[in-house]
Amino acid sequence: MNRVQNKIALITGASRGIGAATARLLADEGALVILTDILDEVGAELASQIGSRAVYYHLDVSCEDHWQKVVGDIKSKYGRLDILFNNAGIIGFEERFGPQDPENASLASWHEIHNVNLDSVFLGCKYGIYLMKGHGGSIINMSSRSGLVGIPSSCAYASSKAAIRNHTKTVAIYCAQQKYNIRCNSLHPGAILTPLWDSMLSNHPEERSNAIAHISSGIPLGKMGEPMDVAYAVLYLGSDEAKYITGAELVLDGGILAGSTASPRR
Ligand code: NDP
Repeated sequence: MNRVQNKIALITGASRGIGAATARLLADEGALVILTDILDEVGAELASQIGSRAVYYHLDVSCEDHWQKVVGDIKSKYGRLDILFNNAGIIGFEERFGPQDPENASLASWHEIHNVNLDSVFLGCKYGIYLMKGHGGSIINMSSRSGLVGIPSSCAYASSKAAIRNHTKTVAIYCAQQKYNIRCNSLHPGAILTPLWDSMLSNHPEERSNAIAHISSGIPLGKMGEPMDVAYAVLYLGSDEAKYITGAELVLDGGILAGSTASPRR
């Protein structure tokens, strides 16, 4: 308990999925959590369920003026930020994005996905440094397993997540050089069952469970991850327990990248 007692934490994309699980966990562990999202009703309801340790702000992560407004409020109300979880992201599988393979994806969809996933992390790190400078803090950037390998069906998503991995290391080294005591690390989850998967899984219960079983069969641990599996990693990296960890990448994928269940056997 109280692993992040009295720390002030900002989470983007906090209304549901991994962000929501992390908001609950950090609040349970003593942080004051600033939930942000574009899904305002759901996010505000979650903040009120969490109680006095949570507040909700509208923040479209791709809009610099939204960052400036929220950062200005945090500066005047709390004077600092200790943990920033740059979590919001989109996969780009909704109908309107069109095909996402490298041969057929449109330049417009490529730009939009990079704007939401990557430009947001650039802005988050920039304003996070501003709020953490002077006392230190921890920035945790949400990349993906897809940022470490090629993904033929999802080229913009994979590219944006790969760039987040690299920018994380740049921020980590820059902050170390400047002696800011700001750590910056990236997370690389595999398949975590959240609403993000809705566009990839059927609404029909039997088809959905068959699809989940199929995905699980390709994961060495035999199942998809849960949002809390990622939330605990954020708790650790955000806490002082991780004070010597910066520029690192933490893979949470049930063993997918460690090898293959299809490896040769005698
Ligand atoms: P969800 O879609 O469940 O939650 C993401 C939240 O971010 C939603 O509330 C979404 O709102 C919000 N969001 C979308 N666009 C913006 C924006 N422009 N500004 C602010 N908020 C926005 O996703 P997950 O919890 O699954 O994913 C969270 C992060 O983890 C993402 O970056 C994702 O790429 C990454 N990730 C997820 C994996 C998984 O298997 N789930 C695996 C690897 C990485 P709305 O619903 O309106 O879009």
